[in-house]
Amino acid sequence: MTSRHPETLALHAGWRRDSATTSVAVPIYQTSSYQFDSTEHAANLFGLKELGNIYTRIMNPTTDVLEKRLAAVEGGVAALALSSGQAASAFSVQNLARAGDNVVSSTDLYGGTWNLFANTLKDQGIEVRFVDPQDPEAFARATDDRTRAYYAETLPNPKLIPFPIAEVAAIGRRFGIPLIMDNTAAPLLVRPFEHGAAVVMYSTTKYIGGHGTSIGGVVIDGGNFDWEAHPQRQPALNTPDPSYHGAVWSQAVKPLGPIAYILKMRVTLLRDLGAAMSPFNAFLFLQGLETLPLRMREHSRNASAVANFLANRKDVTRVIHPEHHTGLGAERSAKYLPHGQGGLVGFELAGGAEAGRTFIDALKLFYHVANIGDARSLAIHPASTTHSQLTDSEQIATGVTPGYVRLSIGLEHIDDILSDLAQALDAAKA
Ligand SMILES: *Cc1c(COP(=O)(O)O)cnc(C)c1O
Repeated sequence: MTSRHPETLALHAGWRRDSATTSVAVPIYQTSSYQFDSTEHAANLFGLKELGNIYTRIMNPTTDVLEKRLAAVEGGVAALALSSGQAASAFSVQNLARAGDNVVSSTDLYGGTWNLFANTLKDQGIEVRFVDPQDPEAFARATDDRTRAYYAETLPNPKLIPFPIAEVAAIGRRFGIPLIMDNTAAPLLVRPFEHGAAVVMYSTTKYIGGHGTSIGGVVIDGGNFDWEAHPQRQPALNTPDPSYHGAVWSQAVKPLGPIAYILKMRVTLLRDLGAAMSPFNAFLFLQGLETLPLRMREHSRNASAVANFLANRKDVTRVIHPEHHTGLGAERSAKYLPHGQGGLVGFELAGGAEAGRTFIDALKLFYHVANIGDARSLAIHPASTTHSQLTDSEQIATGVTPGYVRLSIGLEHIDDILSDLAQALDAAKA
């Protein structure tokens, strides 16, 4: 299947029909438990001598199809679905870094990830060192003997400047450090594994679900990182795990393929911390995934038209969109987003924060919600909402100015989108 295209894989990978009923649609296996064939079978499953269903906290047949399909669409080897994007971010780091270790991350992050990294992981003894993604070499400078991973978002809002994936992945590979990419804002548009990333994670809540119905996340293993070659650098995968009779993951998993990273995450972090995706949500994400390629094209087309419309308005001082960058931002957009720029558009109003609030309140078609990637058009004022838990200087560091408005452009007819924006802009001017 791997030679097929993402449009085809999104519909077919990981499933043909139900073996018991011949059902073509993936059934929702709403069960917590699975009957073992024998005591020997049960012992083999628990001992990982055989892979199979034990308990839905660890795996589920509906969720398994979603995981296989997402891994195939992304070009990875295996995936782990989780209860939220936040769980995916946390697990992607905790799978490698332990108390006393550190991770180097881009400053340009989703607000929730920032809080996780700056506060909760810190409380757990994992230091996250934030560096400016303008300069890829900043990752090398922040690296020391206890750096276990690099972390960044592909198309971080509010700046919407693509991250230098290939540049930073190459630096990491010199040290034996994998690059983890949060690709939530640009599924299919950017393929981080092709640029050298080792791990890709998503909040499936956004474009993959696509309809604003469910919270979920996924971590995908690229299978392209040689953990065993870096025993000192990557102790979590190269030292005996007392919770599995001293298994060394990079070696124990070898017969199953290059899936040590993601298998360890399933059988230790998911087992112990329990952030499992429900089978029902996995079913909904499968429905979303079927039309993801179509939707990303249309989101990109509509957002591009909105950015051009805003650029021609006198009351808009700045448009933030990959096609409207200059200098380094324009170079990175050309390199990483040649086939569509995604659904996000930012802008700043001449009237500042007050005009921003009036604009949001005047919208009739756009929803005012803390989400992106819905089929419907959405708007928010980040300084007073998504980024409000950050200090003023942290807000500026992540690129949120007081008058900044973020739009997530949906799939409505472009004329209706533009007319709602025009009337709300006029209201904000009055
Ligand atoms: C929403 C989001 C997350 C967190 O995902 P949840 O599903 O809300 O937990 C992480 N990263 C990015 C880029 C996001 O947009």
